[in-house]
Amino acid sequence: MLLEQLTRAAADREAQALTRRRRIAHTACAPHQSVGAIDARPVPLLTFSSNDYLGLANHPAIAEALADGARRYGAGSGASHLVSGHSIAHAQLEQELARWLAPHIPQAQALYFCTGYMANLAVLTSLGTAGATLFCEALNHASLIDGARLARADVQRYPHGDLAALDAQLAAHTGGLKLIVTDSVFSMDGDIAPLAGLLALAERHDAWIIVDDAHGFGALGENGRGVLEHLGLRSERLIYIGTLGKAAGVAGAFVAAHATIIEHLVNTARPYIYTTAAPPAVAHALLTSLTIIAGEEGRQRRAQLGGLIATLRDGLGRLAAQAGWTLGESDTAIQPLIVGDNAAALALSAALEAEGIRVGAIRPPTVPAGTARLRITLSASHTAQDVQRLLDAIARAVPHREAA
Ligand SMILES: *Cc1c(COP(=O)(O)O)cnc(C)c1O
Repeated sequence: MLLEQLTRAAADREAQALTRRRRIAHTACAPHQSVGAIDARPVPLLTFSSNDYLGLANHPAIAEALADGARRYGAGSGASHLVSGHSIAHAQLEQELARWLAPHIPQAQALYFCTGYMANLAVLTSLGTAGATLFCEALNHASLIDGARLARADVQRYPHGDLAALDAQLAAHTGGLKLIVTDSVFSMDGDIAPLAGLLALAERHDAWIIVDDAHGFGALGENGRGVLEHLGLRSERLIYIGTLGKAAGVAGAFVAAHATIIEHLVNTARPYIYTTAAPPAVAHALLTSLTIIAGEEGRQRRAQLGGLIATLRDGLGRLAAQAGWTLGESDTAIQPLIVGDNAAALALSAALEAEGIRVGAIRPPTVPAGTARLRITLSASHTAQDVQRLLDAIARAVPHREAA
């Protein structure tokens, strides 16, 4: 019965062009990758779909630091942080991250997690206890949505970027802890949350802000410290989550917040307490990644990325207008080309793939129905020629519209 049910569900997905398939990369994360079945000869693809915004996932110095960490600390941590898995490498990483966020969050401490998904579950369940209310932005990442589902707090959603609506919701709410929950850079749209406005609301209504900077940390800000540096924000009310598997190129995530909040998470957050600590070597490698992000090389990589974003938007704006598609309003490395129909988005993605270019087609439920899109992501390791190749291929795929 179960297998029949699931087979029917799979057929339904297929009929709606919603089947998801994994591709196997035979080479390291980079714009030029070899991709193919496990026993086939892989084909070269130019990819615009990773979140490796600074091109650090395959950086020799970070890979070497990972190897060095493994020689020093071995392969595994052996236990959870509260049992015996917490190493000097984890502690050094947390100390450095706390220093990075200190200009933006008074008395900041940092807590390292195995993944951003877990960090989000941890923060939302530990702070969103019964009696509290989570005010969740409509386009939040799935991990924040799941955290809100798991939390005992009441959950209210506010429309995307709508400060007036949130203001009214906060005003209507009396008593109990109020937590505003938002992505900083929206993962499928690339636009940035109005955090200064959110902070003003938080102050007016005595609320706190949980901000998930998965796509900002490393990529935004003069020193790569993320969206708070980019927007010049500072407040005790900020509870910041940064992930370390995207621009930082390795794995894991961290929460940075007032020391009292971090202490509370260490003692109460189940996704922190009941899981084996990440390998210390990973934390060790991240220290090298942070050094690169903050230094001259990081600055150059962010500048290169900024130049590529401008080139891509310039070309895509014209093509989108011709095709009747919408290029999302985004200044970040995430550039959504909204096609609308699921099958049309898949067809466009397939046309690019036929030319050796890989761009993910994002369909519901990841994005709202009718807004299927190509999610183009850029990395500092792309070249201007790579971007031009993408623009040329999209130009060839633009559907011909009948003349009026
Ligand atoms: C990727 C992502 C996460 C999850 O982080 P992982 O470290 O990959 O688990 C959380 N929030 C947002 C907005 C993300 O894009």
